[in-house]
Amino acid sequence: MPLPAACLFDLDGLLLDTEPLHSEAWQHAAQRFGLHLTVEQLLALRGRRRLDCAEQVRRWIGQAGQVVPSVEELLAVRQPIAERLLPSAQPMPGAIALIAACQDRGVPMAMVTSSSRTAVALKEAPHPWLAAISLRVHGDDPALAAGKPAPDPYRLAAQRLGVDPRVCWAFEDSQAGVQSALAAGCLVHVLVHRHDRVAAELGLQWPSSCRLVEDLSEVVLAE
Ligand SMILES: [Mg+2]
Repeated sequence: MPLPAACLFDLDGLLLDTEPLHSEAWQHAAQRFGLHLTVEQLLALRGRRRLDCAEQVRRWIGQAGQVVPSVEELLAVRQPIAERLLPSAQPMPGAIALIAACQDRGVPMAMVTSSSRTAVALKEAPHPWLAAISLRVHGDDPALAAGKPAPDPYRLAAQRLGVDPRVCWAFEDSQAGVQSALAAGCLVHVLVHRHDRVAAELGLQWPSSCRLVEDLSEVVLAE
């Protein structure tokens, strides 16, 4: 099996175990405005940019017949909770070893995240091993026309690495992220959160072209 031209990594829920913390922050914020988010709604928010999530939560609050807050009002509740929780996020199992394996084999890497530059800085401060991935596409990247699930973030990362996205491996865990990487033409590895009761209950299905792994330590770069 040949080495991938590059490995493109999602951050939240893929390299760092942040998704339950993001869900907790959105749930608190929505409840403040009279809406309890369902498990389906919480999953739909995963992998998307903060402002895209905020607009979605505002629509749901309106559909529930509640008074719709502004984006600023919603984020004023959400952000302090997120900023308190996120620095405690742990590495996902196998993440540190996979990054080291890419480094050892000289496989170029990029981080393709919906998180803003400042949010990534907050989350990665306790994780110096993430510095090995120096090329980043953030959710607030000025060169980005649209965020996940659009293909733009993965296309931009491949372009900056000077490789064709169709010979890159992408690593994702969310519906929006998988959609984005597939649309860009990447070979997509989906980290399936078997421990995630919410996803398991919903019986999420992934396209057959994806490789499914339950732990990043299952990923074999080359035989
Ligand atoms: Mg993710």
